[in-house]
Amino acid sequence: MFRKWFDKKDTASPTGVNQPSVEKRRDVDAADTDTSGAKTRSPKPSGAGRDKKTVKPQWSLEQFQVPEKDGLSRFHDLDLPLSIMHAIADLGFEYCSPIQQTALPYTLDGYDAIGKAQTGTGKTAAFLLTALNDLLNNPIQDERYMAEPRVLVIAPTRELVMQIAKDAEDLSKHTDINVEMLIGGVDYAGQLKRIQSRIVDIVVATPGRLIDFMTRNDLKLDQIDILVIDEADRMLDMGFIPQVRRIVRACPAKQNRQTLLFSATFTDDVMRLTEQWTIDPVKIEMEPDRVAADTVTQKVYMMAAEEKFSVLKNILLSDEVTSAIVFANRRDQTRWLYERLGKTAVTCGMLSGEVAQQKRTSTLKRFKEGKIKVLVATDVAGRGIHVNGISHVINYNLPEDPEDYVHRIGRTGRAGETGTSISLACEDDAFMLLDIEATLGQKLDCEQPPSSYID
Ligand code: AMP
Repeated sequence: MFRKWFDKKDTASPTGVNQPSVEKRRDVDAADTDTSGAKTRSPKPSGAGRDKKTVKPQWSLEQFQVPEKDGLSRFHDLDLPLSIMHAIADLGFEYCSPIQQTALPYTLDGYDAIGKAQTGTGKTAAFLLTALNDLLNNPIQDERYMAEPRVLVIAPTRELVMQIAKDAEDLSKHTDINVEMLIGGVDYAGQLKRIQSRIVDIVVATPGRLIDFMTRNDLKLDQIDILVIDEADRMLDMGFIPQVRRIVRACPAKQNRQTLLFSATFTDDVMRLTEQWTIDPVKIEMEPDRVAADTVTQKVYMMAAEEKFSVLKNILLSDEVTSAIVFANRRDQTRWLYERLGKTAVTCGMLSGEVAQQKRTSTLKRFKEGKIKVLVATDVAGRGIHVNGISHVINYNLPEDPEDYVHRIGRTGRAGETGTSISLACEDDAFMLLDIEATLGQKLDCEQPPSSYID
């Protein structure tokens, strides 16, 4: 049985006591107990501390004044290390997002947590702040070994891993904490070299590449303090669970680690996994569509299937679209759209599983920099796109899974901005609207596309 948020509220300080609960913390001296096997177990020269970088003397909380506001938590109320507060100030965060406000008082205190939350809610910072706080408050004074991280984050897609690693870099930039990411599709040897060249504290990985490292004995997980499993439902959908099980088994037992698991949905399968992998977790449920509903205007245009492409082209060429993602259901449709749009005046790039990782990274970079206006993407590739300022999300097809609809439209209207989603529905896919409306808990009005969009 999960203890509910309000049960815990009575027993723990909402401002968080940053002493991890005793039974959840392993003795740090245990770092030396198992030296067998790992090729990479070369000690760091003794005396080289892993403590915080000295925070620049000129920075103090005086420079990060955030007034108290009713109903909102400030990061100042969480007793976080100054180096982390400095990074939060640099990022321009002022108040905790709802998931952060709910989760952090418990996760900072060492509790396991399961969060039903999508991207756009601030869940990444919630688990990263928990991890960074733990690393900084529990430095290991003894020798550390290469390729033995203390925090592991696993996520289903390469794009998501890259985004999490970037957020971790941003939040730890005033500390000596090292972050590495392990993803498939890029050079193994290069990743290995990096992981063997310095102490790594946080590893963010996709399951497949992480298993490669474990199988070759190039990484050990027996020193993990905090395990984060992001988008657990998507890992299930993508068939990663056997790999994730293997990864979890390689970490310390659940009594000896803190486990944080996030999922956009709490299906029975997800709940079974959380029971196996967590102990008495705090359960946090964010309204599934609260981010989307508040900030995204949703439109559905009905048309004949053969009109879709010209309507899409005209929408993308209109002045109101400054930056857009177009979703299609399959890779071949994505390629077809990308190639056809390439023959118009629309500047576009493509993100799908068939595109090599290096190319995906450079496309995303050009999109973020505004050098291309439109990204055409599949659901899986689109999951990891965390770009603020996307004005429009366009569903060239309605997705078969209504949860994907919520994820898609959540690519716009992020970080307090507003956005528009336009779904192009035709006789082939309009029937899916019913399920989508049920998931959203709201009716979507269907209309004819404006005449300016019709050739
Ligand atoms: P996520 O749900 O983790 O993908 O985060 C969504 C976006 O919100 C990211 O661009 C974060 O940088 C941003 N963000 C996270 N926490 C906060 C906060 N407390 N205040 C403002 N922006 C935030």
